[in-house]
Amino acid sequence: MTDPERMRAFLEAHVLPLEPAFLADRHDEVDAGVGRAREVARASGLWCPHLPASLGGMGLSLVALGEVGAVLGRSPLGHLACNCNAPDAGNMELLHRAGTPDQQERWLHPLAQGLVRSCFGMTEPEHPGSNPVWMSTRAERDGDGWRVTGHKWFTTGADGASFCVVMAVTDPDGPPHARATMFVVPTDAPGFTKVRDLPVMGAPSRGPASHAEVRLDDVWVPDADRLGPVGAGFRLAQERLGPGRIHHCMRWIGIAERALDLLVARARQRELAPGAPLGNKQLVQSWIATSYARIRAARLLVLDTAARIEQVGARAARVDVAAIKLHTAQVMLDVVDHALQAHGGAGMLDEGTPLAWWYRHERAARIYDGADEVHVETIARALLGAP
Ligand SMILES: Cc1cc2nc3c(=O)[nH]c(=O)nc-3n(C[C@H](O)[C@H](O)[C@H](O)COP(=O)(O)OP(=O)(O)OC[C@H]3O[C@@H](n4cnc5c(N)ncnc54)[C@H](O)[C@@H]3O)c2cc1C
Repeated sequence: MTDPERMRAFLEAHVLPLEPAFLADRHDEVDAGVGRAREVARASGLWCPHLPASLGGMGLSLVALGEVGAVLGRSPLGHLACNCNAPDAGNMELLHRAGTPDQQERWLHPLAQGLVRSCFGMTEPEHPGSNPVWMSTRAERDGDGWRVTGHKWFTTGADGASFCVVMAVTDPDGPPHARATMFVVPTDAPGFTKVRDLPVMGAPSRGPASHAEVRLDDVWVPDADRLGPVGAGFRLAQERLGPGRIHHCMRWIGIAERALDLLVARARQRELAPGAPLGNKQLVQSWIATSYARIRAARLLVLDTAARIEQVGARAARVDVAAIKLHTAQVMLDVVDHALQAHGGAGMLDEGTPLAWWYRHERAARIYDGADEVHVETIARALLGAP
């Protein structure tokens, strides 16, 4: 069996059965079920597909990781079950690439073993996340450490996280892309406060799916917990986002593929009159055919971009990375919308299918990791040869 086939069998046996409880918000049942699924994933060698084998992961290439990620994307719980959910996966990759041996021991290893969760604090309410070089969270030198003060929000997974990777300005007068630095801040550090879990489109704002508002008031961070060089925060964030966009895009491919399966099943089964299935309608056939073609094209585009990142690096592939982020999010949202529409009222229910959940939760795909318009600008300016 190939890795995607093994992953598919795991998903169907251990993750899809948890969906009814997940959609009905039965937290305890979901937590227990995900815990059991994680044990199976670990024992079956399906743990941390994004990490090398030396860290207990599957040791996959970015392309192979994309294939596996598309399988996991078929369920809202897929990535969590294999310990490769956002933002933990990105933080693990970041700590693996930029962390000192001591930081890897204290932060990366517990994360890779699934013992703790983490979050990533970059976006601020008072500043546009679309311009990440403009922020007001400050870190000032204090003895052999730093004092960090600032205000973050949309800090995904902060509820229950052990630490937060925080972006803070260390040199406000420096060149824009060298002003900020990353720090690993334990969430129980004095002065670190989770103000609230934000109410986001009706999605359960708790645990790994929470999006929090966070304050840092004069939080003391030892220099040993500075991640990467002073002034390298923006560069590290960009490096984190390159492969991260492959993760997101392949998860969205998985969502779109399952939504298409649901659309086809509905079109075959639902009869508008005796012997007249919904699938006889040309409009529904158009949804099915165009969804199929668009998903196939998006899948190939994302995998091709993953191969390019492996060959030339995320920076050189940045126009393609922007293109897949822009394109795949819209394809996924359109397919989910058609599938939901074909289900009629049943499509609106948080039972039976994850379509309503995806319809709400995945709208954010066109906003986070760069809003559509930012990617449009990146692609167009590059093609126009603009400075
Ligand atoms: C569900 C969710 C999870 C998130 N998780 C995290 C997280 O874990 N950590 C974190 O730090 N952040 C996170 N974010 C924040 C996310 O990265 C920001 O919302 C995003 O970068 C946009 O920033 P903003 O919200 O400040 O919008 P703004 O920057 O204020 O932009 C608002 C709108 O302006 C338009 N716009 C922006 N730039 C341009 C342009 N160049 N040209 C034309 N129009 C433009 C776009 O339509 C954009 O949507 C998350 C967001 C969501 C919704």
